[in-house]
Amino acid sequence: MDKINYLDFFPYEQFRQEQEKITQLVELASKEKKITLLVAPNGTGKTVIALCALLPLVVKNDLKILYMCRTHSQNTRIIKELRKISNFLENSGPNSRLNGLSIRGRNEMCLNKTLLSLKLDPKESMAVCFDLRTNNNCSHFTNLLKKRDQTEKVTSLAPELLNQPIDAGDLLNFCSENKLCPYYLSKYLLEEIKVIICNYQWIFNPHIRENFLNFIGKEVENCIVVIDECHNLIDVATELNSDKITPYLLRLCLRDLEMYRSPQEMQSFVRMLMSNLERVKNSQKQTEKGIDPVKLITKVFTKLGKSDLQEFKNLVRDLQEFGISIHREKVDNGEIARDYIGSLAEFFLKWIKVSTLNNYFFSYNLHERKGKISVSLDIIALDPREITVPVLNECYTCVNLSGTANPYVYANLIGIKNSSKAYKGIIADSPFKKEHIKALITEGVDTRRANRNPLMYYKMLTKIEEVIESTPANIGIFCASYKIVDALLQHGIEPIVRKHGKQLFVEESGLSASENALLVDDFKSHAKKPYNGAVLLGVCGGRNSEGEDYPGDTMNSVIIAGFPYHLPSPRVDAKIAYYDEVFNKQGWNFAYLYPAIQRANQASGRPIRKLKDKGCIIFLDNRFKQKYKWISGWIRNEIEFIPDKEGIINKILTSFWQKRE
Ligand code: SF4
Repeated sequence: MDKINYLDFFPYEQFRQEQEKITQLVELASKEKKITLLVAPNGTGKTVIALCALLPLVVKNDLKILYMCRTHSQNTRIIKELRKISNFLENSGPNSRLNGLSIRGRNEMCLNKTLLSLKLDPKESMAVCFDLRTNNNCSHFTNLLKKRDQTEKVTSLAPELLNQPIDAGDLLNFCSENKLCPYYLSKYLLEEIKVIICNYQWIFNPHIRENFLNFIGKEVENCIVVIDECHNLIDVATELNSDKITPYLLRLCLRDLEMYRSPQEMQSFVRMLMSNLERVKNSQKQTEKGIDPVKLITKVFTKLGKSDLQEFKNLVRDLQEFGISIHREKVDNGEIARDYIGSLAEFFLKWIKVSTLNNYFFSYNLHERKGKISVSLDIIALDPREITVPVLNECYTCVNLSGTANPYVYANLIGIKNSSKAYKGIIADSPFKKEHIKALITEGVDTRRANRNPLMYYKMLTKIEEVIESTPANIGIFCASYKIVDALLQHGIEPIVRKHGKQLFVEESGLSASENALLVDDFKSHAKKPYNGAVLLGVCGGRNSEGEDYPGDTMNSVIIAGFPYHLPSPRVDAKIAYYDEVFNKQGWNFAYLYPAIQRANQASGRPIRKLKDKGCIIFLDNRFKQKYKWISGWIRNEIEFIPDKEGIINKILTSFWQKRE
């Protein structure tokens, strides 16, 4: 057992370039309980590196791996790699298989038609599921309990699921055939599972973590946390720690308060908030307006006739209690209930708790969707470390994986430097052949707002046309914003695309996930004959420029049209000011430049996902030249700066594609 190492788990004939060296580095750092950050492009094999480096520790010290991903397709990819390892182990000895399970949230692991028809958010689903179970109204759950009572051990519940890595989809099929609840079956099995693949929420959301750890039967200190695509953790952590209320929530609270005859004061409080939000909706000009949190709360409690904050806090606590009692009563009556009042009370308890802290920002926000304006009152967390550092401190060790994270910014923002563990950064070399990548930064285009005029858009379109003309099949154009997408459409991108025998696909901001999936599939299908290729026009930071892979000809070239800075806003200003204070004057770099370059890096890597892929990356904005040191290393090493000269892009790309293998 002492001699067990990564080689005992590596399921392939041979290592790719650098792969073995990196695996050894991760293994050693993890043994020493250091937090590792591995930055390596796709194609390096980060998943197999992490699993082979960590499984010896799991076996030796009876640990679990919590492998955190963002999307279902990433979960499935990890399960596939685990299956290879499991089969490899089986060939080395009949009793040495490895299990693993990918799990999803309740909404995606539920087979109860009532709950599914309500289309609730995760918190509401939890409450409704509780009601259904308490009132014996979910047959899938009662079947599962019966089966559990009939078996001696939980391992006998579904032994076929415990001796191999299982994807959530397979578990759903199994449960659908056997009429069992997939969500609770997965939870009952977790104690026996060595590698659990799940969303970041399961461990980073403090409300979910405790319950989750109970089910897996381990403390965080006995878990190795792997964070896939870890650059996303910065936003996930701050979003987790933020909260908001809307007129919709307030209407539902008021309905419950009236129906259950609450004290008048509670109803007055909710009505006051409703009229306040209505007034903001009708009068606020800007999308976001910062608020002084202490002033607002003082105004609220004074209007309610409270003499101080403590009196107001007592009212909010009473409201919380009242919400709990209504919810209990509804459940006792067999109703499906959601505790809206509890959500409102939690929001104000948080407001009171953090209103004097400088790592939070408070604002009114207007949102536009399909021509309709809505309003919200928001508490916005600015510092991811409040969520991440406790996990980094407690876990056995943590491995962070990314193709694009900037180690310096990431280590600071996630708080690796504030954690109790040492840090090991590993930056892998590019696994791609030089002749497979053409990366250009073009002069002559600057999409900052002051320069956005017809002349500039025509210039952009001239350069885009050169790319379209010289690219054999599909092209992605990821713009800095939807405004640039619209401007390219207005200035005639469609006829240009058609002129070259290709079809244009335009990503729209309001598309549902399934509508978007159809659009992307259709776009990809145009890479093959009888088609002549297609152009996908979308935005940086969108689901098509980050979560989606375009192997082979499904995206030969990608254009990053404009430098994807977010529009300046009060919350960004607040973040810059706060980061200046806590990160040694790095506010602008960390809060404004880094997220923008991260979006560009993500989008620019889309065409080259596998070792045999070949692709062109064109940065269409002068400003990339000034900031090129921030571009991902494997692209940066190949960058050429191109003068603003007609025909030059066409010439370079034509010659690149002529050398096609
Ligand atoms: S017990 Fe399972 S199937 Fe039933 S409502 Fe809850 S999650 Fe859905």
